[in-house]
Amino acid sequence: MTLDLAVLEAYHDLTGAAPEGIWRAPGRINLIGEHTDYNDGFVMPFALPQAAYLAAGRRDDGVIRIVSVDLGETFETSLHELRPNHDGWHAYLAGVFWALREAGHDVGGADLALASDVPIGAGLSSSAAIECVLVEALNDLHGLGIAPMARAKLARITENAYVGAPTGLMDQAASTLCTEGHALFLDCRSLQVQQVPLDLAAHGQAILVIDTLTRHSHAGGEYATRRADCEQAARLLGVAALRDVSVDELNRRLPELPDERLARRTRHVVTENQRVLSACAALRADDLPRLGQLMTASHASMRDDYEITEPSVDLAVETALANGALGARMTGGGFGGCVLALAPLDRVEAIATAVTTAFSESGRNVPATFVVLPAAGAGRLA
Ligand code: ADP
Ligand code: MG
Repeated sequence: MTLDLAVLEAYHDLTGAAPEGIWRAPGRINLIGEHTDYNDGFVMPFALPQAAYLAAGRRDDGVIRIVSVDLGETFETSLHELRPNHDGWHAYLAGVFWALREAGHDVGGADLALASDVPIGAGLSSSAAIECVLVEALNDLHGLGIAPMARAKLARITENAYVGAPTGLMDQAASTLCTEGHALFLDCRSLQVQQVPLDLAAHGQAILVIDTLTRHSHAGGEYATRRADCEQAARLLGVAALRDVSVDELNRRLPELPDERLARRTRHVVTENQRVLSACAALRADDLPRLGQLMTASHASMRDDYEITEPSVDLAVETALANGALGARMTGGGFGGCVLALAPLDRVEAIATAVTTAFSESGRNVPATFVVLPAAGAGRLA
């Protein structure tokens, strides 16, 4: 059953009636620009075909009922009971009502049925998908007229202030603002965006996602130390953020840092920002081989300078490159998760097979592999 039908049916089971509408918001994958967001830098995600679907209808008694088709669970609360918490999957949704009301928007209760095929915890932003789909639905149902970037910010407030997960704006901006056939260039300081053509199919190319299924339990701690390193380096260099150091001045400035570790962290962030700008230019020039080179360089920088890769993602990248990918890199916070490989359509299957074989031969679990094309951002289904 397709997910739109699944949520329609679940909504009917919950309420005995039809919903007022069905909304969709996608997961995202970051094409390039890793650990640049908290350095006021650049990122370039695109929306996945995988998405969260939500059937929704208003209630006038302040009650919120949510059924998750995927988890087979129903949760019920009411508007006056909303308090920031991290008590489960429903916080990502209850928190949206809270964030909207804190911002002064007059939203009432609702019945909601949710289903999503964004893999959970794979770094493809299943959390932003479910936040953004609900922001979208409530914005439409109550005629709130909130602009797209402001909708993304409200979804982020849900995750930061209600659920308590300290994430940047990229995930929610991508889920809300992306358009089909484009990547979204986002300047994390100015919040300016550009839709950058990423028409892979027209060039006979595709992006293969390889979910290594490796999840690192210390990723949160490592993330915090990388952030602290960047803040320290920026302070020592006398800039507001590492965004303010250019590639041209990098070699002159690095000796000012007291140790090799801070120098390497800085070099990753500064060169990665430049790679995002170069990737943007490459896409505008229709130069996909150049994009591939930049992706591979990004991976090397994450591996050698930022030290956030691990053997499974390195193996996936090396195997993809050895089997005809134009470029490949880990995407997401690090220490596992997904790799994306840019490859000619007729090489994709061979790459997936080669990676699967390499993983089996080294005693690893078989990775999940799937092809993605840049999909549309959040919206209401017709
Ligand atoms: P991700 O990288 O997938 O965003 P997060 O840890 O940020 O990982 O968010 C995953 C959490 O989002 C899940 O643990 C769950 O609480 C919630 N979630 C995501 N998708 C669903 C879903 N389909 N149904 C219920 N909860 C979901
Ligand atoms: Mg998330």
